[in-house]
Amino acid sequence: MRMKRVAAVAAATTLALGLAACGGDGDGGSSSSGAKGIVGKAEGQKKLVIGVKADQPGLGLQTGSKYEGFDIEIAKIVAKGLGVEEGNIEWKTTVSANREPFIQQGTVDLVVASYTINDERKQKINFAGPYFIAGQDLLVKADSTLAGPEGLDGKTVCSVTGSTPAKRIQSDYPKAKLQQFDSYSKCLPLLENGQVDAITTDDIILAGYAAQDQYAGKFKVVGKPFSEEPYGIGLKKDDKTGCEKVNDILKAAASDGSYKAAWDATLGKSGKAAPEMDTTKLTNCGSV
Ligand code: GLU
Repeated sequence: MRMKRVAAVAAATTLALGLAACGGDGDGGSSSSGAKGIVGKAEGQKKLVIGVKADQPGLGLQTGSKYEGFDIEIAKIVAKGLGVEEGNIEWKTTVSANREPFIQQGTVDLVVASYTINDERKQKINFAGPYFIAGQDLLVKADSTLAGPEGLDGKTVCSVTGSTPAKRIQSDYPKAKLQQFDSYSKCLPLLENGQVDAITTDDIILAGYAAQDQYAGKFKVVGKPFSEEPYGIGLKKDDKTGCEKVNDILKAAASDGSYKAAWDATLGKSGKAAPEMDTTKLTNCGSV
């Protein structure tokens, strides 16, 4: 009787261990070396699905089937560091509100999409980075006198559902009339025809819109950022190994010149010098 029980416990334990080895991070990514998460997927399948923005010039912009911008270059650096060639990246367009669900559901392996690291999001997913620090700002008509968020009382401001800038307007500037869409580019015609007084999101995104040929001379970024938006790379919450690996890849990119090259080929074309990535500030990949 006793022997039987021990054997049964042993069998149950073996089964549990076996299941853990197969399941693990739950994304089916496990390689011959037994690695799981994005490291396992990259090793085993040599491909990755990466969520990016499609309508943010300089950062993540889709033209036909091609995606380009700083976030895209960062994603390529990360994929390469994981052993995945550029041609084996499947780009998936994300909007601000579906980034966490896409990661949680395994629709994407990684998200590189002007994605602010914060504690609320860390409840659901993990973040490597930051690889860039943006700040919330306002885009207004070139002749507007609006000088900052304090001036938004009673004014109409356009932003995006599920974004940190929209949330900050709701919490810190409740007298502003907030209009929300699923992506920032939908706000542009409204600013142009005067239906909204301002667009708010990260300065680096707004600068990209202001620089587009079709809006030349029409808009200006107010230029007084009122938050810190550290851009991270999102991945599954339990994929600590993957997160640490991505941080290692970012660290290497900061020292081998590939980070600077990514900037120079995209946002840096405006003449703005590449920022320094402070690699002492990379996340610890733990939970909050
Ligand atoms: N960085 C902010 C965020 O993650 C705004 C940009 C965006 O919506 O992608 O919410």
